[in-house]
Amino acid sequence: MKQEYFLNDDVIMKKPHACGTNLWTITRVGADIKIKCKECGREIMMDRLEFQKKLKKVIKNETKE
Ligand SMILES: [Zn+2]
Repeated sequence: MKQEYFLNDDVIMKKPHACGTNLWTITRVGADIKIKCKECGREIMMDRLEFQKKLKKVIKNETKE
């Protein structure tokens, strides 16, 4: 199942970051996806395929109907 994700959505990744959290915010959506760690503020970039593979869950900041 493909999940939808948008800029500024919070996401949970399958693997926790080095700082211990797996909660991130999407800060850029393009050919590459950029996510920022909610705990330590570190930003990482990866391509869409890799992101979708590592993505566990999208947490919507606003519910879209
Ligand atoms: Zn971190």
